[in-house]
Amino acid sequence: MKTVLITGSSRGIGKAIARRLNPNYKIAINYKESKKAALSLLEELRQTNPYTIAIGADVSKEDQVEEMFATIEKNLGAVDILINNAGIAHYSLIQDTPYESFQKIIQTNLDSVFLTSKRAVGKMLEKKEGVIINISSIWGEEGSSMESAYSASKGAINSLTKSLAKELAPSKIRVNAIAPGIVETDMMTKDFSKEELEELKKEVGMERFAKAEEIANLVAYLISEEASYITGDIININGGY
Ligand code: NAP
Repeated sequence: MKTVLITGSSRGIGKAIARRLNPNYKIAINYKESKKAALSLLEELRQTNPYTIAIGADVSKEDQVEEMFATIEKNLGAVDILINNAGIAHYSLIQDTPYESFQKIIQTNLDSVFLTSKRAVGKMLEKKEGVIINISSIWGEEGSSMESAYSASKGAINSLTKSLAKELAPSKIRVNAIAPGIVETDMMTKDFSKEELEELKKEVGMERFAKAEEIANLVAYLISEEASYITGDIININGGY
């Protein structure tokens, strides 16, 4: 059974990924603030899978990432599949964006991917196998007004993904990113009114947002042997946005 780490899996897309992969993998779920939600998810997963743990760690901090990996290795073995999902969004015009907010977004969304990948790759290289999936965003490619820091973090994730894929392909480690359009999670619903969300839906070809489970299905495929020749890709899933 392979060991999977899903960063930021207390809520939203990460939680849906954990549910989708259970009970076929050993699963490490990670949270920062939402301990109660993470422990409730852990209890749910454990009903069918004893090989699950929940770890509190801020993935933008190197020492906490190190401790998280050490705990996983002790309890579930080395991480075979790393899913970099943790992320935050921030809406504001550039002139209204404090530098601290810009830094926090870059550290949470981008530095975390560097830190976890760097830590995971050591063991993957020893085994000469492994998979990394980075959850990017449509805005990483397109750019989004009032989300320049977020878009920049996701654009950088795309180029990090492509570069790492080239670096690691000879060692049989695949690296891909998933670029969702709009997904129905707290990240989307907390900052917009019902009316604004209805307006936004009209911009999507399929006139609805993605369900987190639809992103999780794509993750399940990309980490499986069925996707064994896919690496270095940014895969869009946006309902025709
Ligand atoms: P969400 O519902 O707000 O959940 C975010 C998750 O990230 C939570 O579990 C949160 O944990 C975790 N997190 C945040 N900062 C963290 C940190 N420093 N360390 C560890 N965990 C941290 O968001 P979501 O919509 O599921 O988003 C998941 C990913 O998909 C993000 O990378 C996001 O950019 C991307 N995405 C989302 C959409 C969308 O429309 N929703 C579209 C494209 C891409 P705690 O609550 O425990 O702190």
